[in-house]
Amino acid sequence: MSTRNEFLLTIQEELEKVKEDGLYREIVDLKEGFINLSSNDYLGLSNHPEILSSFIEGAKKYGISSCSSRLVSGGRDVHRETEDKIASWKGKEGAILFQSGYHANTGVISALSPDEIFSDRLNHASIIDGCRLSKAILSIYEHCDPDSLEGLLKKSKSRKKLIVTESVFSMDGDMAPLKDIVFLKEKYGALLMVDEAHATGVFGRNGSGLCEDMGIQDGVDVSMGTFSKGAGCFGAYIAGDKIIIDLIVNRARSFIFSTAIPPPIVCAISKSIDIMKRERWRAERVLGYGERIRKRMKEIGVDTGMSNTQIVPLIIGDERKTMEVAASLMKMGFFVRGIRYPSVPRGLARIRISPSASHSENEIEFFLSRFEEVWNESGRKG
Ligand SMILES: *Cc1c(COP(=O)(O)O)cnc(C)c1O
Repeated sequence: MSTRNEFLLTIQEELEKVKEDGLYREIVDLKEGFINLSSNDYLGLSNHPEILSSFIEGAKKYGISSCSSRLVSGGRDVHRETEDKIASWKGKEGAILFQSGYHANTGVISALSPDEIFSDRLNHASIIDGCRLSKAILSIYEHCDPDSLEGLLKKSKSRKKLIVTESVFSMDGDMAPLKDIVFLKEKYGALLMVDEAHATGVFGRNGSGLCEDMGIQDGVDVSMGTFSKGAGCFGAYIAGDKIIIDLIVNRARSFIFSTAIPPPIVCAISKSIDIMKRERWRAERVLGYGERIRKRMKEIGVDTGMSNTQIVPLIIGDERKTMEVAASLMKMGFFVRGIRYPSVPRGLARIRISPSASHSENEIEFFLSRFEEVWNESGRKG
């Protein structure tokens, strides 16, 4: 027997441990013919014909790649024009495109270089990684709890304070108490960053997010969102005062040292924004589906936490049982994924349901009746 490298052996042990804990992850490809209830294509725009043709025309005009960072030679007119469109949509002085939400969050938080960051306990991994990269003191406040946030702000002796929160939370589908947070950021002289990844296109009269819906755009210093979810495209943005955008161009390493978002994608984003503003029925439909799912879960006794958006967690709790229920649903032709630690806390495993405006009423109804069967057979027990 050949002696295995010791390092590789530790990797194998690590993976065995993950399997024992019932936390092993595998990539599962989406199959044709499934009803997909785990996509973030909330508005059903990822196949929209107008967006597709903008993408194709963009590819013909500019080619596939940006071929370098914007600061080298990767910028095109369409980047700048789309940024102007985003800025006015978000009611901000300026905006800048990023290759992904992960790039945006890690890039901007580290570029801001705060002394101390006040971060909601359930913020997305890309926010957490941005906080780590910034080397700031990290103060975690309890999820959606302004009192907990104020307690930390009151104690803080830091000069440059940054509060960061999602607007709609990705795993729980609940909303941050943004008005209270804006009040606190003013009271304590902090900057506020809001991640609208799951609200973009879904909330607001023009679909620009929950901050628009709540009328608090002016209280947000760094507004982040993605085009990979509701917009049905790819990429992300930061909108804010011009000095924030200038800082990003000069200091955000994920922006500076990474090839710019491809022009055809930017063409698609630009069209998608027009459609998100114009076709508000898509958001109304998907939010209605969210409400219907919650109502049925309440009837059959499944906990949906504090969800009040298009994202509805069916919180089953136990990791293994959650994966079993998900597997039964997959067998019935529903593409659903069990979500467990470390994406959510241990013991709060769930099936995260995210309907889309592209689903029909019948498909949602069909899912609800089949889920009820599975729940009565296996989920309720044990
Ligand atoms: C998905 C997500 C991101 C990352 O966006 P990508 O474009 O997929 O990299 C950032 N923040 C939140 C809250 C998200 O849910």
